[in-house]
Amino acid sequence: MRHLNVLRPALLALALSSLAHAAGAPGPSSPLPVVDTHIDAPTRLLEDWRDLGVASPDREFDYASARAGGLAVAFMSIYTSADEDDAGKARQVANLQIDTVEALAARHPDKFALLRSPRDVDRLRKGGRVLLAMGMENGAPLGDDLGQVATFQARGIRYITLAHSRTNRISDSSYDPNRPWHGLSPFGEKVVAEMNRLGVMVDVSHLSDEAVLDAIRVSRVPVIASHSGFRHFTPGLERNLSDELAIAIAQKGGVVQIPFGIAFVNRKASDDLQALFVAKSALAARNAKAKAANQPLEDVDAFDAAWKAAHPIPPTSIDAVLDQFDYGIKLIGAAHIGIGSDFDGVDGNLATGLHSVADYPNLVAGLRARGHSNEQIAKIMGGNLLRVWRQVEAAAR
Ligand SMILES: [Zn+2]
Repeated sequence: MRHLNVLRPALLALALSSLAHAAGAPGPSSPLPVVDTHIDAPTRLLEDWRDLGVASPDREFDYASARAGGLAVAFMSIYTSADEDDAGKARQVANLQIDTVEALAARHPDKFALLRSPRDVDRLRKGGRVLLAMGMENGAPLGDDLGQVATFQARGIRYITLAHSRTNRISDSSYDPNRPWHGLSPFGEKVVAEMNRLGVMVDVSHLSDEAVLDAIRVSRVPVIASHSGFRHFTPGLERNLSDELAIAIAQKGGVVQIPFGIAFVNRKASDDLQALFVAKSALAARNAKAKAANQPLEDVDAFDAAWKAAHPIPPTSIDAVLDQFDYGIKLIGAAHIGIGSDFDGVDGNLATGLHSVADYPNLVAGLRARGHSNEQIAKIMGGNLLRVWRQVEAAAR
């Protein structure tokens, strides 16, 4: 299922270097920098380790694929789940994931480098290195300690997705019917201010609508949605952005990074996903009750298996992803659109032609076929995200 490139490598290099030229980049030795803000490789490494410096065919991110796809900056997702938060393990897991990213760069200094500032992109890419930046998905590892923002910033975290699948100390979540904060919590507002102070980008993906608006209001600088699609195509999925929210992000100068997972771009799959999280939230509540009453708990793994069997993933073409890009470009402009693939984060349930980091050229070809200019495509493939990051860094105190 992988490596379904429609362009051969030589053509691909040509396509990317002509794009780089159009974007005013120095030339073929530093091709168009593709920036992807959401790759879940670290979670997969903790589950089942590989050396991503050598070919790892069962993974959606490794060095060879990244080079084939023209990937320059890969934001490694430092993801912790709501369950890990409940178990008091989120900070531990986040630190271990950061360790795995550091270890990968240290093991292959010729292939990878850690990226802490957008100023270093050109310098560190020399010699064909893929740059590893880090974003924290779920603010759970902060606990209730504001000082942890600086601690994780010092470890290299450059964005924080304030919440994930369940409401946490910082923010309400789009997947969670329980909305105690009606947006950000008072602590969450302090977290956003501290992130602004330290130059850490505020990521509104996964948040409830009220929380997205709160984050935009509280942040002094543009915010990002690191991996969110447009709800226009998936009306039942609050996890994707409404037009109103996307416009608000763009008006603030921010960027919406579009994911490739089928559940974000296919209506049937998105309805199933929203229903799954509502059902899981109810299951968690029933189990909490049962635990308190010393009664047997329902088996979560059995629940997941039964759900999967009853809700097969509908095959979905790259056109559904391209439709998202077209719609976003029309709605908020090419200057506010980017890529947040969710590779290694959606159990391989990706649109056809976008199966790994080797496949960005298919996206480029599709955007061209739909009439978007080289200049617009260069911004979408990475220029916009780097612009926002520079702005956030410059505004740090
Ligand atoms: Zn996510």
